Amino acid sequence: MVNIGTHVSSSKSIDLVFDRGLEVGANSIQFFVSSPRSWKWKERTDKEKEQFFIKKEKYSIFPTVVHASYLFNLASADEDLRKKSINGVINELKLCEELKIEYYVIHAGKAKGQNEEKAIENVLRSMEEIFSKIHLRNTVFLVETLAGQKGEIGKTTEEIYKLIKAFETENIGVCLDTCHLYSAGYKINTEKGFYNYKKELSDIIGLDKVKVIHCNDSKTPFNSHKDRHEHIGKGSIGLEGFRLFLNDEDFSKLPFILETPKEKNWDEVNMKTLRSLIGVNVPVAQSG
Ligand SMILES: [Zn+2]
Repeated sequence: MVNIGTHVSSSKSIDLVFDRGLEVGANSIQFFVSSPRSWKWKERTDKEKEQFFIKKEKYSIFPTVVHASYLFNLASADEDLRKKSINGVINELKLCEELKIEYYVIHAGKAKGQNEEKAIENVLRSMEEIFSKIHLRNTVFLVETLAGQKGEIGKTTEEIYKLIKAFETENIGVCLDTCHLYSAGYKINTEKGFYNYKKELSDIIGLDKVKVIHCNDSKTPFNSHKDRHEHIGKGSIGLEGFRLFLNDEDFSKLPFILETPKEKNWDEVNMKTLRSLIGVNVPVAQSG
């Protein structure tokens, strides 16, 4: 069975993520542990944590994924912002470790006017500091593929590789995002483009490092370097791209998590669409 999940809210009490996932029929869930647009850190109560563990055992929802706050910028030239981001990441990671959350997904950062090399250097310094302060045993730190909007770091396979190879001994990996890949210029919705990308990923990073797939269509055209998520099959990627991922012998083992707009019952609609593509006309891998 292919694992299909979605992003849910962790508001009120963190254990409710499981109820919200169950309600829409998700096999896996992703959520924020702090408000993604506020610096305020909310301590979770012991009761919340206890309920979280009970439901994690009881509900067949696996894995759990936390998405880092959008405010963090580990690439920032502004030292205050960079330090604040490092501390924010450490806070979130500590909670992930405590709650035995399987994956923590982060956008590495934005160059915002700095040259790219300098920005990557900043991310590496920030990650160095994070890993010197927290040793991950339960949670894997996943760097997400990005669209390249506003100097985002992680828009190419090489960039992602630079970030993770330096920390090979840590619990580290990669999260793919279909919308970001397509916007970054990877034509994943044709057989040729899909297998070219898969080969590049396999050659440079290794498929074993890929742990989660964010499953989003794109509101903007191919190679637009914009990050605008659309419902499955309603954007510029189209169903073919998702069919290729869902039926791939390697990717189909990973959780596919929706981050599509939260409108009406669209989570259910999108999950149904994804499930309907499984086993449909499976293409044969092209050699070379
Ligand atoms: Zn993301």
